[in-house]
Amino acid sequence: MTLTPVEAAPASRLIVDLDAVAANWRHLNALAAPGRAAAVVKANAYGLGAVPVVRRLLRESVRHFFVARLEEALALRPEVPPEVMIAVLNSLCPGEETVAAEAGLVPVLNDLGAIERWCAVARARGERLPAILQLDTGMNRLGLGYREIEHVAQDATPLEAIDLRFVMTHLVSAESADDPRNAEQVRLFHARRGLLPPIPTSIANSSGIFLGSLAASDLARPGAALYGLNPTPGRPNPMRPVVTVEARILQLRDIEAGETVGYNATWRAERASRIATVAAGYADGYQRDLSNRGVGWLAGRRVQIVGRVSMDLVTVDVTDVPEAAPGAVVQLIGPDIPPDEVAAAAGTNGYEILTALGAARHQRVYLGAA
Ligand SMILES: *Cc1c(COP(=O)(O)O)cnc(C)c1O
Repeated sequence: MTLTPVEAAPASRLIVDLDAVAANWRHLNALAAPGRAAAVVKANAYGLGAVPVVRRLLRESVRHFFVARLEEALALRPEVPPEVMIAVLNSLCPGEETVAAEAGLVPVLNDLGAIERWCAVARARGERLPAILQLDTGMNRLGLGYREIEHVAQDATPLEAIDLRFVMTHLVSAESADDPRNAEQVRLFHARRGLLPPIPTSIANSSGIFLGSLAASDLARPGAALYGLNPTPGRPNPMRPVVTVEARILQLRDIEAGETVGYNATWRAERASRIATVAAGYADGYQRDLSNRGVGWLAGRRVQIVGRVSMDLVTVDVTDVPEAAPGAVVQLIGPDIPPDEVAAAAGTNGYEILTALGAARHQRVYLGAA
């Protein structure tokens, strides 16, 4: 006899609203006008599932996708029509060029060696292979520094072997609208790209789009805002919520004042309390730093996470929620407990909260899938 889990009642679910992702992209694309918006789908679309996200966005008019690594790009290639760009942000590792060229991928060239290797493959194949050139303007992470740009500018003939689709840079603190670094980076970018032949530009990430004309370019590269994170911290979130994580109550327990809950007894009841044990923990992307700090949503009320987050379980104080019952669903992340709020409680950012869901065990549900 085989036992199959009951599909209707999973312990926990990750619900991704693909229609909201699409609406968020349309909003960002409108703000990016007269340029366009790409979609950044690296790290499995920030943990939410790159394939369903890409399929849904192809039904909008998304024509440019960005991933971080070659393997991510290769996995998406069969999903995406050949004329739609899949760009690889993190340089190719030496030796990956031929595979990338065969798959019609667009590498971001971040240093002189990468330019040389891509040009060599282009010459060997007798075609002008597409690429994006990244200029570093202050991140000091990836991209050509000033000396390298000068070097390229002095003799741009190698570049003729390739089809440079965009020249890009990445902002250090776009989410801080009044940080003078934004304007300074944009100024450096335009000065440096002026040394090269004219090539379409790509500057803004999600938050950069909300800097208005300052970071305007031909192609914006939003990721986080597509998935509902707030690109304008400190101001109301202009994006639609995308992600819900909910888990079931497995057990209820009434404890006396003075009793403790969870590993290392980090929470002590000040009054007689009812504790719900809920089926998700740090192995499900619900970070251990949310111990005694996280908040859930049950029957229209906020409920406090009490005690340590365990690997597979969290404990919640439901003393004031009469609806709490075994099998009832607690929202841990979602419209009522936004990922940015979870991040603040965990001392991290919404990006880490979402990407942590990538490896989680939740049953995945996609709303609005094709
Ligand atoms: C991840 C990334 C983006 C997307 O940034 P968001 O803040 O998620 O919009 C854009 N550009 C580069 C170079 C990136 O690494």
